[in-house]
Amino acid sequence: MDFRQLIRDVPDFPKPGILFRDIMPLLAHPQGLSTIIQRLSAQCPPVDYVVAIESRGFIIGAPLALRLGCGFIPVRKPKKLPGQLIRVEYTLEYGQDSLEMQADILPPGAEVLIVDDVIATGGTAAAAARLVEKAGGKVKGYGFVVELTTLQGRSHLNPPGPVISLVQY
Ligand code: AMP
Repeated sequence: MDFRQLIRDVPDFPKPGILFRDIMPLLAHPQGLSTIIQRLSAQCPPVDYVVAIESRGFIIGAPLALRLGCGFIPVRKPKKLPGQLIRVEYTLEYGQDSLEMQADILPPGAEVLIVDDVIATGGTAAAAARLVEKAGGKVKGYGFVVELTTLQGRSHLNPPGPVISLVQY
């Protein structure tokens, strides 16, 4: 399956100047999601949890956790999660935002794969990694469907990898 043919380029979304890489046609293909999960799981390091980023990261992260036989933890936009929270600020390709995770959800020393649909500048994934580290977890790697290599997002990730991406632009 050629993912490039099923990823739609949407110019000027959600803001002028952004070329949005839309994975919805790939997800709409009957074998799209299963092929994404097969290809990501084939390259993933063993982990205790998939930590997925709201909201398109959830679409990929939950079935990936199922396939890997590990736990699933959502990282969400502010005011969505109940209980005691850890919060970080981050810069998006098209704005400023915050991410939150439940403070007590991750056992100390747990090994984590961070998952999202797209890595652009890397700010979102780096923020998720900071949340995991704050919670006492260890980031063992990152998984994305799409990597926008010109933005060099992977160079902003700490710890740096492995960084798995299925399609590069
Ligand atoms: P960044 O923090 O710059 O790596 O941005 C990654 C987050 O923003 C991901 O959650 C993506 O869903 C979204 N995103 C940023 N840029 C794009 C883009 N050009 N196309 C699709 N999604 C994007």
